[in-house]
Amino acid sequence: MKKHVVLYKSLSPALLAQLEAATEVTYIEDPKSPEGQARLLQALPSAHGLLGASLRVGDELLALAPQLEVVASVSVGVDKYDLAAFKRRGVTLTHTPNVLTDTTADTGFALLMATARRVVELAAKVRAGQWKESVGPSEFGTDVHHKTLGIVGMGRIGQALAQRGHFGFDMPVLYHTHSAKPEVDARFGARHCSLDELLRESDFVCLTVPLTAATEGLIGARELGLMKPGAILVNIARGPVLDEAALIDALRGGRLRGAGLDVFSQEPVAPDSPLLTMANVVPTPHIGSATHETREAMAACAVENLLAGLRGEVPPDRVVL
Ligand code: NAP
Repeated sequence: MKKHVVLYKSLSPALLAQLEAATEVTYIEDPKSPEGQARLLQALPSAHGLLGASLRVGDELLALAPQLEVVASVSVGVDKYDLAAFKRRGVTLTHTPNVLTDTTADTGFALLMATARRVVELAAKVRAGQWKESVGPSEFGTDVHHKTLGIVGMGRIGQALAQRGHFGFDMPVLYHTHSAKPEVDARFGARHCSLDELLRESDFVCLTVPLTAATEGLIGARELGLMKPGAILVNIARGPVLDEAALIDALRGGRLRGAGLDVFSQEPVAPDSPLLTMANVVPTPHIGSATHETREAMAACAVENLLAGLRGEVPPDRVVL
């Protein structure tokens, strides 16, 4: 008998066919809607696998799915999952590293460039018919090339950012992680340093750490206060890594030149967030990996992981619990 998979992410016809050839699929378009929740409650008791990205999975949900073997997340970040609960219950968790690295780094650089050169703010002026004469100093941006790029977290995405900064923009690169990475230093002429040193010396600070108990609130008022006056902060990690209220204060106080934010403490971001009225903030709706090619590659990766796990193999991208 085929194993039962609850799918809560739409797949391309080819990937859906691949999944359906090997498993019995229940597709739930929106597991958070009342109707979706009811269908989820009905499907979980017989589910061997889950595939999607939007659900938080911990003890409560796992208890409803006693036959569950594998959860294949369509994301690299695993902050939505209670890893201890997975371990206790012997459920395998997989994610989608590597396939989204370059695209997410591109998003980080797009935010960095857009904020530094005020692309969104000035494009809005052009659209509004307010381009009457050549721009003056009040509309000038700041250079990116040759400025210091500080990367908090130097994993896959951090290194892809370093590559762009070092080779594309001649930027000296500083980074902060648990320990130094000699191969990164050699490839990008980068330097490992403490978080405080990175904040003091960088013109651009880009957050690329995973959200964990250790990184929640990593950048708060004290840390923002250490940043160079006129520096720019880019967050492509997760909203709670940054204290948003402290960021709003730092932007209001004029200490920071601006911020590029792909992630927020609450998503979708509250429409009345002061961040949305600040011209020097470039907000994007969590689009780090959101290209056609990358989302398809992530879904393919998740399907491969799920099917491997359900066959009793060790999935290629198993999260070590
Ligand atoms: P990764 O390869 O695991 O890299 C994570 C890096 O963070 C590592 O260098 C790690 O340091 C460092 N780190 C972890 N905890 C730290 C701490 N407490 N202090 C300092 N450094 C710490 O992960 P990745 O593939 O680059 O992805 C990183 C994160 O980006 C994901 O977890 C996800 O939340 C986020 N992301 C967002 C989007 C988006 O749409 N905006 C898309 C993809 C990913 P060590 O090397 O020393 O262990």
